[in-house]
Amino acid sequence: MATTVVYNYPPTGLRDLCIGSATGTLGEVLRPLLDLLLPVECGGCGVPGPLLCRDCAGLLGAPVQVYPPCCATGPPVYALGTYRGRLRAALLAYKERGRRDLAAPLGSALASALLQLPGLDADGGTSGPDYRGVSPQRRGPGVLYLVPVPSTRVAAARRGGQHMEVLARWAAASLAGAGVAAAVAPGLRVAPGVRDSVGLAAAARQANLAGRVLPRRAGLPPAGKAVVLVDDVVTTGTTAAACAAALLRTGTDVPAIVVLAAAGCHGLS
Ligand SMILES: [Zn+2]
Repeated sequence: MATTVVYNYPPTGLRDLCIGSATGTLGEVLRPLLDLLLPVECGGCGVPGPLLCRDCAGLLGAPVQVYPPCCATGPPVYALGTYRGRLRAALLAYKERGRRDLAAPLGSALASALLQLPGLDADGGTSGPDYRGVSPQRRGPGVLYLVPVPSTRVAAARRGGQHMEVLARWAAASLAGAGVAAAVAPGLRVAPGVRDSVGLAAAARQANLAGRVLPRRAGLPPAGKAVVLVDDVVTTGTTAAACAAALLRTGTDVPAIVVLAAAGCHGLS
């Protein structure tokens, strides 16, 4: 029987632990104190202050459909922003430079976008999101399932974990805070031998991944349920397409792929 883990609020450091355990007035008092004791800077522009300042957070907006060349026949792909400048800096800081605290604002932005996704609708927070156009038998029971795109074992070890799974947990927690039932379903893994795709052309990426994105049965949602595949950046779409195909082979429907940023694949196909 496949199982899906519903994650709770996942603090990532001392600062998060302190703020996460303090509510109301205590939290309001504690936050500026922590700003003094444990100062942070914006992950995008480096200005001291919030984890992601308002200007940089504004680079992650409503989901816009993009057209990666390798996703032409797969599920629609939506991006929250463009992979350049301060947004690129923030994503690299999170992914490669140890700024794991950025999972909170990035996950929150992802959650907001998911609620705006065409065909996805929260019905006032009572029964959660609904996939319009997907038959009732194929919906989760009021649950929005998020499948994070997996990193290779080597990359995950270098980064200190599966960064998209952590980010998806934050998104699920943020959705839960908005009254929407959400679950992270880490239902994919990358087989050993796959290289990091950065710097590879589309054909090389495809050859690198061919047959090597595999299902993790224990992480998949209940059989026949639909999921949203989530990733940080889409370029050629090779990885997203391979992940969607692996899910489809298990009988899992993928109505949409949502990424934080698109690199060079905007515009109509
Ligand atoms: Zn900033």
